[in-house]
Amino acid sequence: MSVLRFKAIQETMNRKPIIIEEKVKRSELFAANVFNETAMRQYLTKEAYDSVMDAIEKGTKISRSIANQISASMKDWAISKGATHFTHWFQPLTGATAEKHDAFFETIGNGAAIEKFGGGELVQQEPDASSFPNGGLRNTFEARGYTAWDPTSPAFVYGTTLCIPTVFVAYTGEALDYKTPLLRALQEVDKAATAVAKYFDKNVTKVNATLGWEQEYFLIDAALAKSRPDISLTGRTLLGHSSAKGQQLDDHYFGTIPSRVLSFMRDLEQECLVLGIPVKTRHNEVAPNQFELAPIFEEANLAVDHNALLMDVMKKVAERHSFKVLFHEKPFAGVNGSGKHNNWSLSTNTGVNLLSPGKTPMRNLEFLTFFINTIKAVNDYEELLRASIASASNDHRLGANEAPPAIISVFIGSQLSSVLDELENVTKGKISPQEMTDLKLNVVGKIPEILLDNTDRNRTSPFAFTGNKFEFRAVGSMANCANAMTVLNTIVAKQLKEFKIEVDAYIKKHEVKKDDAIFNVLREYIKASKRIRFEGNGYGKEWEKEAKKRKLSNYKTTPEALKSKISKSTINLYEEMNIMNKVEVEARYEIEIEEYTLRLQIESRVLGDLSRNHIVPTAIKYQNILIENVKGLKEIYGEGFKKVAKEQMSIIEGISLHIEEINKQVLEMIEERKKANSINDSEKRANAYNKNVKPYFESIRYHCDKLEFLVDDNLWPLAKYRELLFTR
Ligand code: ADP
Ligand code: MG
Repeated sequence: MSVLRFKAIQETMNRKPIIIEEKVKRSELFAANVFNETAMRQYLTKEAYDSVMDAIEKGTKISRSIANQISASMKDWAISKGATHFTHWFQPLTGATAEKHDAFFETIGNGAAIEKFGGGELVQQEPDASSFPNGGLRNTFEARGYTAWDPTSPAFVYGTTLCIPTVFVAYTGEALDYKTPLLRALQEVDKAATAVAKYFDKNVTKVNATLGWEQEYFLIDAALAKSRPDISLTGRTLLGHSSAKGQQLDDHYFGTIPSRVLSFMRDLEQECLVLGIPVKTRHNEVAPNQFELAPIFEEANLAVDHNALLMDVMKKVAERHSFKVLFHEKPFAGVNGSGKHNNWSLSTNTGVNLLSPGKTPMRNLEFLTFFINTIKAVNDYEELLRASIASASNDHRLGANEAPPAIISVFIGSQLSSVLDELENVTKGKISPQEMTDLKLNVVGKIPEILLDNTDRNRTSPFAFTGNKFEFRAVGSMANCANAMTVLNTIVAKQLKEFKIEVDAYIKKHEVKKDDAIFNVLREYIKASKRIRFEGNGYGKEWEKEAKKRKLSNYKTTPEALKSKISKSTINLYEEMNIMNKVEVEARYEIEIEEYTLRLQIESRVLGDLSRNHIVPTAIKYQNILIENVKGLKEIYGEGFKKVAKEQMSIIEGISLHIEEINKQVLEMIEERKKANSINDSEKRANAYNKNVKPYFESIRYHCDKLEFLVDDNLWPLAKYRELLFTR
């Protein structure tokens, strides 16, 4: 009997939900461990408080003496929350979070010691982080990297550590992380959007991008997950015959949450709330053992941090509940994979959601301005947006008919489509008073204040308008949102900047009023970005054909999709908008293309190991049992044994055929891998993995899964799909 698998199953049978008490109201838990405005007011002098707020709102510098004050107060606050250590918390280009803890504790001679945390330690640290991927940005011997405090994301105490969100940059100035370009993009979108919002309201002085992510994930019993090398090493199953029951009955979606899972969720939510992550929604997703969690949306930088933190917290809380969280976009074949919808909007400091229609024609014209500019931005940079979500694991999802296709398009619903169709006919140049009145009353004015309830829902669109925000649905569940958010905010910033220039020029040239100019420019944008709008079924073959006609990209794999990250247009965009320079852009490309190769390399090795060291020997063991049986039958029946042993003999042969194929293909795959590994150029190497190594995954799997169906269940070494998906 296969010991590990059955031991694991046995273990799962004895599990009981951990009782999670909720003694304190959630509103009281919220942000208890966050050094936010409330805490700062209590702990900081007025001078220090004002200085931090200015840094947050206007990006001003904090002086060293103030930093010293702040760090001392932050330390007192953190110690009161049980902290013993502090860390600069950052997001290197692995996409995960990184931390290196230092104790507050310091000796002062004569055998005495104190707790100390200086301003210098708050503002800047130099982690010995030479082993993070840097795409050649940072020669270990030359430019060292340092982390610098990001006051726009508040410090928090997690466990016994004070975590200070930081950016990670080289001494030569290049960004070594995901946060730095994101912060720059957010700054640019603020600048550009504020300038445009001022057309409508002079009081607007700041615009924040907002992000509300929805995190999908699988929860698998920890013992079962550990029993499978593929899950442990790659985060997904590389093999496994489908379970007789999967998601056919749709009985999991929005169903009763299993009690062990509910305990996990309650525990997790309380931890999140204490850390200031405003979690709100939880439910079962479509696939068995798949779930979703969503917070209330926040300013985008904070939301990105909170998602990164959440993924970390989830892993830790899951351990307590004997679960393993799978963030992989496609952990199981044959059932739905996971994504991370990024709900995005722009919000002014006067409290207006710029992507939400309002009560007056003026407000609606403003809404349309931002709405149409966003569509235009997506139209112009669809390839870059596609590249921002490309990864080896997301390739399994995009275009696989359960998730958004690999083609980027925008869905806006029939109501807004007809508004845009009408605006396309606005007279060129100066608009007559009569037409203007008609436009304001009957076109713009007719946009209902609340679109939420009557926007059609189109689940197949990668970028859908959902009433008061756009929802970027193609982001991978495993991804750090910063990548997608940097691109989206940059392209919208660039678009709004252009819009402002065009409108101002139009006013001057044609001597018309602002509204006339806005209508005129928007009309042209609607025409220019028509090809990106698609209301139909994004999963259909017809759309692929249609998209091709429209010259929209359709990159199904990461190496193809990533190319536009280093195109001339991208580098120009990033340089013009001060997001990244050419070196930084190319370094990121290098890292991502290399990560793609490494992931495929690991999967290929694990698959080779599993099939040759686990599956084939198991199949032989079973075959030997059958051979013994046939021999016995021959002993009893003599030459007549063939009749009674027919079935056994056909299984014996079947097993041999599958074993032969597996061995042959694994050897071929190893050969291809060797060839690919010897390629020096990282792009060509990734392509070789994509084109020559990856195809073996499916065909080797096919034979292994066939064997799973033939071999005695008692001998099978790997936890089966039904066990992984239905144990809870
Ligand atoms: P679903 O897409 O599952 O139907 P909802 O449409 O209710 O869910 O919203 C999902 C997410 O949208 C929530 O996480 C919420 O925080 C986010 N959201 C709502 N308004 C905004 C906004 N103005 N900016 C960014 N995110 C938002
Ligand atoms: Mg959604």
